[in-house]
Amino acid sequence: MDVQIRQLRARLAEINDLRKAAAVLNWDMQTYMPAAGAESRAEQVSTLGKTAHQWFVADEIGQLLEELEARSGDLDYDSLEASLVRVTRREYDRARKLPTALVADLAQATSLGHSLWQQARARSDFARFEPQLEKIVDLALQKAEALGYDENPYDALLDEFEPGMKTAQVAALFEEMRAGLVPLVEAISDRVAAVDGSLFDQGFDRDKQWEFGIEVLTALGFDFDRGRQDIAAHPFTTSFSTNDVRLTTRVYPHQFKTAIFGSIHESGHGMYNQGFDPTLNRTLLSSGASLGVHESQSRLWENIVGRSRGFWIHWLPRLKHYFPIQLDGISVEHFYRAINRVHPSFIRVEADEVTYNLHIFLRFEIENLMIQGQVKIADLPELWNDRMEEYLGIRPADAAQGVLQDVHWSHGLIGYFPTYALGNLLSVQLYNLAVADRPEIPASIKAGEYSPLLDWMRDHIHVHGRKYTPVELIERETGGPIRTGPFLEYIQTKYSEIYDL
Ligand code: ZN
Repeated sequence: MDVQIRQLRARLAEINDLRKAAAVLNWDMQTYMPAAGAESRAEQVSTLGKTAHQWFVADEIGQLLEELEARSGDLDYDSLEASLVRVTRREYDRARKLPTALVADLAQATSLGHSLWQQARARSDFARFEPQLEKIVDLALQKAEALGYDENPYDALLDEFEPGMKTAQVAALFEEMRAGLVPLVEAISDRVAAVDGSLFDQGFDRDKQWEFGIEVLTALGFDFDRGRQDIAAHPFTTSFSTNDVRLTTRVYPHQFKTAIFGSIHESGHGMYNQGFDPTLNRTLLSSGASLGVHESQSRLWENIVGRSRGFWIHWLPRLKHYFPIQLDGISVEHFYRAINRVHPSFIRVEADEVTYNLHIFLRFEIENLMIQGQVKIADLPELWNDRMEEYLGIRPADAAQGVLQDVHWSHGLIGYFPTYALGNLLSVQLYNLAVADRPEIPASIKAGEYSPLLDWMRDHIHVHGRKYTPVELIERETGGPIRTGPFLEYIQTKYSEIYDL
């Protein structure tokens, strides 16, 4: 058995190297590559993606899996060996269903799609991206057909990001969330004057924002000896190993909240990536359990920690050191309310905690229509704006503020958005558990000390990497499934206090 495990690991290690090399190229594409490099980069990424796919679906891997499965009966379910066989089998069966030509077409279409999207977004010109998006949606549908599904092609796509989750379950959770959130948004809209956010109308020097962000991230526990942060148009996190994790952020003088909360968010992803058990390196297990679980970590640090009163009791004095004029006379209470101001806005990543999920519901519904062929791609800008108006009461003036704002579709990531809202739900479930285990966590946050919370997440979530499915992991830790109750209670308590409802 040891021999086969070693052989399997050796094969997976090489495939991992190809995928990580492609990740470096993707990271570079989104940070430093000149626009003119797009076409050759698309070819390079496509070649690597195609090769990794071919190596992975090789019969040899199937044979190794069969031999290992025949003899893995007495292995402990939690052991690395059993987990490796189990997770590799799941991915192998999935990958075998995808024709190599389709994988290569997708890699190329999305790599080119990314640069067309960038151009379209910069000019707010949807027509420039539209034909390529049409191609990408068509390929995504081919992918869903190749993978197979029971009810809805969207199930097959969602499963890649949130294994085991079905479209109908997502729809049911979203319905519960909507029922809790919409009345809250309405109640707050009658009380807008309760929060003064005007302090962020001032300019904040970019370099100082950057330095402050690095200071905060270091304190939270992101290890800069095993990672770095760069600028990207659409912030993301990627990693090439647990020892090389890349964060990105964007910094605008007149949008103070963008850089700091974006950076904290991405560092939550980054700390998860730095926390996988190193023995899982160069296997499929060295990654997050799912995107929803990943997002639970980023939203935990961004919102539950970063937008808490306790956090700013510690950090506001330090921030005043960077911006003494802008923050002169501003109290923690004033600052806390200002960063939590609820305000319907066009851009999802800048949305407050209360309206954020409404942005997700809209995308989930539009993706479903798209993948079921119930809307023409050319009609998306109009449909988007109509839904925005319905959910948030505001109408984007142009496509850049509307349908073109997110990078995901250009990358072929359809079925990805729901994981953001699932992450919000899970972040509160996990935080509550951590505090139940370690009641000193809220006081430690107030003191600028994050290791009690980070250590809990390391031990309970990070270390496992992808050994467990999200359903297994959530069941193991919370004793039940993902739920809306804890999140809605957190949101209602926090915002009823801020808006005196
Ligand atoms: Zn995220």
